[in-house]
Amino acid sequence: MQSLTAATLAAPETQTAVATPPGQDLWDTVVAALDDVAARLNLDPGIHAILRQPERELTVAVPVVMDDGKITIYTGYRVQHSSARGPCKGGIRYHVDVDLNEVRALSAMMTWKCAVIGIPYGGAKGGIRCDPTQMSRHELERMTRRFTAMILPILGPKRDIPAPDVNTNAQVMAWIADTVSMLQGSTNLEIVTGKPLNLGGSLGRMEATGRGVAIVTSELQKRRGCQLSETTVAVQGYGNVGSNAVRILHGMGCKILAISDISGGLYNPHGLDIATVDAHIASHPKHLLEGFSGQGIDRVTNEELLELDVDVLIPAALEHQIRRENAHRVKARCIVEGANGPTTRDADEILNDNNIIVVPDILANAGGVAVSYLEWVQDLQRFFWDEDEVNRQLKAIMVKSFREIWDFSEAQGVRLRLGALMVAVDKVAEAVQARGIWP
Ligand code: NAD
Repeated sequence: MQSLTAATLAAPETQTAVATPPGQDLWDTVVAALDDVAARLNLDPGIHAILRQPERELTVAVPVVMDDGKITIYTGYRVQHSSARGPCKGGIRYHVDVDLNEVRALSAMMTWKCAVIGIPYGGAKGGIRCDPTQMSRHELERMTRRFTAMILPILGPKRDIPAPDVNTNAQVMAWIADTVSMLQGSTNLEIVTGKPLNLGGSLGRMEATGRGVAIVTSELQKRRGCQLSETTVAVQGYGNVGSNAVRILHGMGCKILAISDISGGLYNPHGLDIATVDAHIASHPKHLLEGFSGQGIDRVTNEELLELDVDVLIPAALEHQIRRENAHRVKARCIVEGANGPTTRDADEILNDNNIIVVPDILANAGGVAVSYLEWVQDLQRFFWDEDEVNRQLKAIMVKSFREIWDFSEAQGVRLRLGALMVAVDKVAEAVQARGIWP
């Protein structure tokens, strides 16, 4: 094996597609939004200061013996933004663009998300700066297990419960649960959610975020007085969130005019046949839309998809897709944010000026953490529900939250993004105040 001095530092030069424009750091956006809300809520300056920074940040250097025997050091993070309302909760992301500020921002967004939908969690997020597409399964497993051991001191079912995020899945969660169980000498499956079904996972978890997006879209259309059977939809990103949202909205009667993934997009002004598209994806070696053709179908780029004339646009891929440069070309009547942070702050102003309704990420994509919560509850009670029960409870959470945020925003005369954040920050601030500052 190679000596430690010859160990390599993971150099993520194989940059993929996250488009965070210079000067648009997600953490800056999150803090600026909090400052705005703090002023509107007349928040106590001390509590504002507490919420302005994460409670705890852990950065770890994760050495991994690669398949060729060389050692690579990956940088990993776990950030706990707030535990005021309960144990911290949030996913773990493997991506070349992961850095401390991104993890901080996503951890704060988890705090707000859990508060918006009223589940008893605080917010956390984790990640490793790596390119998982260039790693073997064994390398990923070794990296995951070592990372788990290094952040374990701050994890626990009553402390901080990770879940999957971009490029992590049920298998990664199984490795985390197994590592913790081996180190502690007892089975500890409730330390993560998004697990495989036979390891304490929940029915309905896989589809939960997309289902939540669909439920929110349906409630939105009701409030707008529009029929789902007359609703046209375009979805950017056909992964976990996007594809499940499409299937469920299609099942509800919506016409899906366009979808896209990393390979580009498909557009049919008369509506796409989703079953045929899914059959193509199932047989594609990389599960992509690439190479799909059919009568009446045009290819569109990801940028063009965002500008299509539809009732509902669902960005469900990456951060910062709708920016100052393209926001004024968006023709959709509404945007339901499936992805986290798909709209920049200045784009949001342009959309608002153009009377485009935006259902913000912390509400629109909260279905995933809602069912993570239901999974954790089932794990703790060692008693599991059938899928109908999980979906029933998910629907109840999403409908109630949407109505609360819509009514509050209407009463305050603010847009939904601001209304949702005001409700969330108020709940977290109240919890901080009630608990008091110890000692
Ligand atoms: P995923 O990896 O399953 O899917 C992402 C999709 O986006 C894929 O179809 C991919 O091809 C596509 N894509 C990647 N780069 C693109 C680009 N440059 N342009 C267009 N499409 C591109 O990821 P996911 O789990 O569906 O997550 C998508 C977003 O939703 C992320 O922002 C994530 O943080 C957020 N989110 C996910 C969940 C969840 O439960 N999975 C929950 C809440 C929020």
